[in-house]
Amino acid sequence: MSPAVMLPLKEKDKPIVQKLLSAGCCARCVLRFCCVSVHAAYRQPHQETLKELQAFISDTENGKSQDSAPAPESTEEDNKSHDASVLEASDDPPSKKAKLDPGVSDAPSAEVKESDVCMLCLGILQDLCGPSRAVKIAETVKTENYKFDTLVLSVSLPAQLCVREHSCWLHVKKEVREKSSVLDKDDVIQVKEAFKWVMQGLVAKELGGVAVVTKSQFEVGVEFTHPETDADCHFLGTTCPDCFKPTKNKLSMFTRMAVVKALEKILKANSSSKHFPCPPTRPSSSCTPQDVQCLHVSVFVAGRYNKFCRSLPQTPWVIDGERRMESSVEELIADSLSSYFLFYLFTGFNFSSSGREDVDVRTLGNGRPFAMELLNPHTSRLSRAEMKQVQETINNSSDKIKVRDLQIVTREAMGRMKEGEEEKTKSYTALIWTQKPIQREDITFIDEIKDLTLDQKTPLRVLHRRALAVRQRVIHSMNARFLDPHHFHLGLKTQAGTYIKEFVHGDFGRTKPNLCQLLNTDTDILELDVESVDVDWPPAIPE
Ligand code: ZN
Repeated sequence: MSPAVMLPLKEKDKPIVQKLLSAGCCARCVLRFCCVSVHAAYRQPHQETLKELQAFISDTENGKSQDSAPAPESTEEDNKSHDASVLEASDDPPSKKAKLDPGVSDAPSAEVKESDVCMLCLGILQDLCGPSRAVKIAETVKTENYKFDTLVLSVSLPAQLCVREHSCWLHVKKEVREKSSVLDKDDVIQVKEAFKWVMQGLVAKELGGVAVVTKSQFEVGVEFTHPETDADCHFLGTTCPDCFKPTKNKLSMFTRMAVVKALEKILKANSSSKHFPCPPTRPSSSCTPQDVQCLHVSVFVAGRYNKFCRSLPQTPWVIDGERRMESSVEELIADSLSSYFLFYLFTGFNFSSSGREDVDVRTLGNGRPFAMELLNPHTSRLSRAEMKQVQETINNSSDKIKVRDLQIVTREAMGRMKEGEEEKTKSYTALIWTQKPIQREDITFIDEIKDLTLDQKTPLRVLHRRALAVRQRVIHSMNARFLDPHHFHLGLKTQAGTYIKEFVHGDFGRTKPNLCQLLNTDTDILELDVESVDVDWPPAIPE
């Protein structure tokens, strides 16, 4: 029956161990409060640790313990070189014995039954922290079919644990202060840490040896709740009302952050623990583990798209809650991406692009740069060759769009798409109708116009979503190709953000100068194509 791990406890820890066990603390929480940072000590079954702790304190009664055994042999001088707190503790064995005796005669083994729920961790470091829990966590991860090399385990605890921890710390502090040593709250091992020390290795083993690390793209979230003790926090609402503000989207205003803030405030104000039982009372039930949540960080995919269809919006077009047009550029792209990256299609992506075109405008040439954030994808590792395959899938799925230069990019790189967007140039071709008949030579002067500055009042058609303003935009150059007496093609190279349709028809004089003025007749735009969007991102990928 020799213990698997020698608990690294010192003589000075004895009163703490004694006090915590009698208060109804589990073995692992005792280790935490003794600031034991040896992971192996937490990994052995908590019932084993409990037995060792009980043996440790009963050793004191018999006047010998594993740690203090060499002490009687050492001289006073030797002891002085030790940690002051140890020295103090071993300096006055009689008074300590006197203090301990009643406690020991209460026999913690009689008071603390193995099935009892810890008043501090509410059972989290007891039966909710071991091989069977690890199997359950691993099972969930396996069924979700994520692809990953590493994972990070995140733990979410009920907020009242902070209150209990604080109260217990005050309880222990009283004891150690009498022994004139210091117990820094920051030295106490956190429940979260202890839980991870036990569980990380077990979960890793269940998942076939995948590395459980402190930073990973893939997070497995474990959450505990404990409705029975939710009211523990409520006194803080009256003690520190300014720390708690009701929020719309949180179930309870007693968030962990707010509770910690309030407790810090109380500690600074040096107010006693009169608001909360010290030590905390024992709960009748253990915490409830919530569903395990898997989350993979976003993947960013960028490329350029062509739009060949005059009845396809860039993004879903909804007017008064009613959908117009059955699809959109972003949906066509996302559809194919989702079969590779396995994200939730309905809400699982954010689309952005370098500007946008109207539903009836085609985007030709090299296309328009776009980027997509894929939320919680099940995989993030696609090779260049696989990305090429994704691109082909998109291009084969519809003749309305085509993508090129499809690649995985970083979140930071995405910013480059929007950088200097306003200064970039765009090229267009427009099919123009003229009211008065024209001849070939009537439009040749257009080719000579350079850097024409327009004053554009916010167009009527976008006034419902944009503020009224006058913006200056430059048409760098134009060229006209005669078709027939009422039609010609107009090519334009403009500053990004120029309203082309308004330049052509004048928008009731809201854009000046406009093509009607230049040609001295009413003109209208029948078709518009974007020929190029001159943004040099994302980098071109050779075919
Ligand atoms: Zn505990």
